[in-house]
Amino acid sequence: MTRQYLNVPALLREYGLQPKKSLGQNFLIDPNGLDKVMLAAGVRPQDTVLEIGAGLGSLTVLLAQAARQVVAVEIDRSLIAPLTKVLEPYQNVRIVEGDVLKLPLEDLLPEGEYLVAANIPYYISSAIIRRLLESKIRPSRVVLTVQQEVAERICARDGKLSLLALSVQVFGQPRVEAHIPAGCFYPVPDVDSAVLSITLYPQPLIALEELDDFFRLAHAGFSQKRKTLRNALSAGLGLPAGEMEALLLQAGIDARRRAETLGIPEWGRLTSVLKSGK
Ligand code: SAM
Repeated sequence: MTRQYLNVPALLREYGLQPKKSLGQNFLIDPNGLDKVMLAAGVRPQDTVLEIGAGLGSLTVLLAQAARQVVAVEIDRSLIAPLTKVLEPYQNVRIVEGDVLKLPLEDLLPEGEYLVAANIPYYISSAIIRRLLESKIRPSRVVLTVQQEVAERICARDGKLSLLALSVQVFGQPRVEAHIPAGCFYPVPDVDSAVLSITLYPQPLIALEELDDFFRLAHAGFSQKRKTLRNALSAGLGLPAGEMEALLLQAGIDARRRAETLGIPEWGRLTSVLKSGK
């Protein structure tokens, strides 16, 4: 099937609409950019795909042509009419008007098995990623266009794991799949983008029953990330510094290190040590 690419500016004019900055509306209009997302997503005919922020449907149309089922969420009521019109030829798309951060994913995707492909609004990209990865029903794979700098921070090739990188890498393997220049979007944003994929592990690297403690610990460590772990964690967890130092030692971690230098296994060891000391 030849791919169909929308004329987004013409559609906006037809419906008397202006892109809303407040909702992160930079529509992906360049066929090459859309093809890069599709290539990274690798959608198969048996797949169910969740799209977040369907906009006017430029990506939705391509997903509908490739997948068994597409669930397309869009928050902006004024886009629902043009989106419905664009998707009229496709019986396998369900449009859901709502906020992806509030909708219960398990109701949208009752079969539970799905992947995510989306050009997400950048002002909430971290919140969306965390919601997907921490949800009761986790996708098998997530493919998103995000700001280039955010994609690089998540992959942390320099070995420095930010809280966001940690929150992603505990669930899956992130990869920068492609670069998408700002000029591929309408209106043109200030920054370039990247296609980021996250292939989820069957189970998170930290045992499910320890995840809450793991995140509490990591938040405490990063809350004052310029401080040593000894000081940041004792302040964040409300423990005496001497006691924190002893716990770090027990986990085999130098108390003078900083949060961003720890890998996931070290955070995991420290979580277990703290838990067993409770
Ligand atoms: N997918 C379209 C495209 O590629 O042209 C639109 C992408 S645009 C970057 C992001 C879209 O997400 C906008 O249509 C915006 O209205 C929508 N959006 C913003 N916040 C949202 C939220 N909390 N839940 C669902 N959709 C949201």
